[in-house]
Amino acid sequence: MGRVTAVTTIIKRTVSHIFTKPATAKYPFAKSTLSENFRGQPQYNIDYCNVISLGNPNFGFDVQKIAGSACRVCARDCPVGAITIVEVDGKRRPQFDFNKCIFCNQCVESCPRKAIVNSDAFELAVVDKKALVRKPKPNSGNEKQ
Ligand code: SF4
Ligand code: SF4
Repeated sequence: MGRVTAVTTIIKRTVSHIFTKPATAKYPFAKSTLSENFRGQPQYNIDYCNVISLGNPNFGFDVQKIAGSACRVCARDCPVGAITIVEVDGKRRPQFDFNKCIFCNQCVESCPRKAIVNSDAFELAVVDKKALVRKPKPNSGNEKQ
């Protein structure tokens, strides 16, 4: 390709791009378009979380030992150990560490009570990494973790 032809090609392409819609989005000024199956930050609802209550005391075993314990399935199944069980108001609940979370949504799949659901939240930038460790709040409703 001769030099003149090459320059002509470059000019043509440059001019054509002026009239072409940009391939990139204006994020963060414009909201990103997420795919239908996007997996974002898991969202925990303490009101649905399964806590074993004392109920009928005649179970034939020491109910005191398991009373106030969450089922822990989410913590068991998290592949990166992002969920630890902590005590909140005398009950043991899952605490999420979003420094470790890889948004795999395994906890959403595993939770038998639908107490953890998927969300489209993905903007987790913080100044202090401790802010990404979310202690479960009592009566938090469907608040984002
Ligand atoms: S989304 Fe995956 S990595 Fe994150 S807390 Fe749930 S199971 Fe763990
Ligand atoms: S799996 Fe669900 S019900 Fe069980 S402790 Fe985790 S959030 Fe609670």
